[in-house]
Amino acid sequence: MRNSFTYQGSAAHIVFGEGKSDEAGAWVEKLGCKRALVLSTPHQRADAETLAERLGPLAVGVFAGAVMHTPIDITAKAMEAVKQSGADCLVSLGGGSTTGLGKAIAYRTDLPQVVIPTTYAGSEVTPILGQTEGGRKTTVRHASILPEVVIYDPGLTLGLPVGMSVTSALNAMAHAVEALYAQDRNPISSLMAAEGLFAFKTSLPRIVEAPGDREARAEALYGAWLSGTVLGTVGMALHHKICHTLGGTFDTPHAETHAIMLPHTAGYNAAALPDLLGPVARMLGGSVGGGLWDFAKSLGAPLALKDLGLSEADLDRAATIATENPYWNPRPIDRQSIRALLQDAWEGNRPTN
Ligand code: NAD
Repeated sequence: MRNSFTYQGSAAHIVFGEGKSDEAGAWVEKLGCKRALVLSTPHQRADAETLAERLGPLAVGVFAGAVMHTPIDITAKAMEAVKQSGADCLVSLGGGSTTGLGKAIAYRTDLPQVVIPTTYAGSEVTPILGQTEGGRKTTVRHASILPEVVIYDPGLTLGLPVGMSVTSALNAMAHAVEALYAQDRNPISSLMAAEGLFAFKTSLPRIVEAPGDREARAEALYGAWLSGTVLGTVGMALHHKICHTLGGTFDTPHAETHAIMLPHTAGYNAAALPDLLGPVARMLGGSVGGGLWDFAKSLGAPLALKDLGLSEADLDRAATIATENPYWNPRPIDRQSIRALLQDAWEGNRPTN
């Protein structure tokens, strides 16, 4: 890989540090903007309103309607708010759902975005937008989608509940694990992926024990930046395909689905890639899949798809859809193997690879 690769750095401006979200207004001005529309989910409305107050005359309103998977009817409502407010930029405060709404607006208007992430999902550093219409999810990749400025303020993640912190972090770790064996990986993406995994490995047990541990929160958010960045720069494989199938067709929750599937998909690929995934096994003190499963269990993460409301009868259809138009994967995929992998994930079995 070191003899032949292509590499392009991200155009995004990254600002990292406790209290840095106080600089949101300065970044709006640096972008040459004067009229920011603040976005959030209904759950984070109060925080979005506080942020708008802090922005003072730079804020022209709050749209607190973001929901999971960026449905286009919500985007249409937000577009109306953009038009009525005369907004010239977006400030998104929240997790992947809020970031997704900001990206959907930017894709339609090319408005610049300042994103202040409060989960570890990593969407803020990718040029990828997933949208849903009539229950169908489609994905687009475009330069206008990549946020211009991302402000990582660990203080804003202190209130992320422990359960969500764990599943969100395992979602991010899945980006990093798949980046390690991506077909188009490069030395920088592999370094970032390994560093991101290590950041979560060290910080997550501390967050579970003490959710207010500021140092551990900063370390996890650092891992989120690294893992999100590799998601945005190299291609994903079997793991993301299965999670998109389960989320898109059976509406399983995003972060939990990633958390449950990761040990199984990584274990499946580890059988073909002992070298590339060796660092994961060594870091977690076991086999790749087994080590990830033990780590998830130690953090209290969900381990079985059956606990997400998926019925055993759905597994046949899931295996068919996941193998119909497969993404590139380092280990060949066949329906029978994926069906068996799904059965193990449904039951919550510990992978052996
Ligand atoms: P989310 O944004 O849906 O957040 C879940 C809930 O937690 C929301 O109610 C939110 O308001 C709340 N929340 C967020 N941060 C909080 C905090 N610090 N304290 C308390 N509550 C908080 O969840 P997510 O997992 O971050 O995002 C999932 C979405 O992001 C999915 O739609 C997924 O497809 C998308 N995503 C996209 C990409 C991409 O590159 N396009 C990457 C990752 C995820």
